[in-house]
Amino acid sequence: MKKTDAYIWCFGALLCANAFLSCTKDEFKGPEFESTRQYSIVETSKAYSQYYTKAEPVSFVISEIFSDEKLLAEPCDLTDFGEVLQGYFQDLMTDPYFDFELINYYSELNRKYVTFYEGENYYGANGEYDQLAKKRIRDLEKFWNLNREIRLNGQHTSTLNDREILTDMIESFDRTVRNREQAYKKADKLLELNRQSANIPENPYFALDAFTRSNGLLVIGDGLLESLIAIGIDEEVAFTAILSHEWWHQAQYENDEKWDYIDQLPTQAEKSRFSELEADFAAAYYMTHKRGATYNWKRIEDYFNLSFNVGDCLTSSDQHHGTSDQRLAAAKLGYALADSAQKKGFILTPEEVHEAFLEVYESKIL
Ligand SMILES: [Zn+2]
Repeated sequence: MKKTDAYIWCFGALLCANAFLSCTKDEFKGPEFESTRQYSIVETSKAYSQYYTKAEPVSFVISEIFSDEKLLAEPCDLTDFGEVLQGYFQDLMTDPYFDFELINYYSELNRKYVTFYEGENYYGANGEYDQLAKKRIRDLEKFWNLNREIRLNGQHTSTLNDREILTDMIESFDRTVRNREQAYKKADKLLELNRQSANIPENPYFALDAFTRSNGLLVIGDGLLESLIAIGIDEEVAFTAILSHEWWHQAQYENDEKWDYIDQLPTQAEKSRFSELEADFAAAYYMTHKRGATYNWKRIEDYFNLSFNVGDCLTSSDQHHGTSDQRLAAAKLGYALADSAQKKGFILTPEEVHEAFLEVYESKIL
């Protein structure tokens, strides 16, 4: 099975969906959501709606999850991380300018922008991860030695508040706009709305993505890092964990033809779960290894905590990433592998790590 121009969505909409489903299931029933809102949009915000409702239909995974009756019926426990995400969304929903269309419009613009952006980057809202990113990228290149160009784009909420960038986004991705002049006009109206809202676009929700593309692109959103820090994860661990998890997906792309265990899995949910848990396992291996991030036990415990927290219970979703217990087990086994192998002082190849994962996947993780 050859993947061409594929995406792997690691965080973002899926986890948000998980968080919403965990607590609001009674009042939240997919499309009926609009009518259950406990607040009212002020009339002034209506005046702006013409500036964002006419974009092309969104390919938003969250809508797909919310319209799936089977998924909505699944039981869910909310982790601390889920609660943080829920808090973000509650802040958004109670904002006088909240509108689902606007949220989707902005999320989609920011996601597409970071997907196609090429150029200078910074990581963290104020570039606070720039040095760490440089170091980790250099380390991971050597550690896994993959035969492909890998680049990392940072996703920020501030891009939606920057006149030139917002205009670029609108001009490139909003099909209702014909030229730059029209894009400026639309951007200026939206910036006016931004100025009046405390959440739009500052809410971390707008930079919550982490994903990988088969062309070597990795994306890490500031909002995701922020949400992990909010549950007590060390910031360096949070960044390194996401980066090394995403990096492993590149190893999977590179070995797509050869690593065929996944091809026999019957459903997309099982394929997704396998890829994600393997990435958790390999990230733990790298983070623990003496020639990797060399994290001590305390930091690795943070990673275990993170892994548990980002589990989801959308077990029949095509986007399922593994439950909390499974993600924790994968991380612990990756740690154990490094702990046993590092005494010998060598780094296992991606192939060997893949084999080691296959040995424990069915018996110790599922
Ligand atoms: Zn992933």
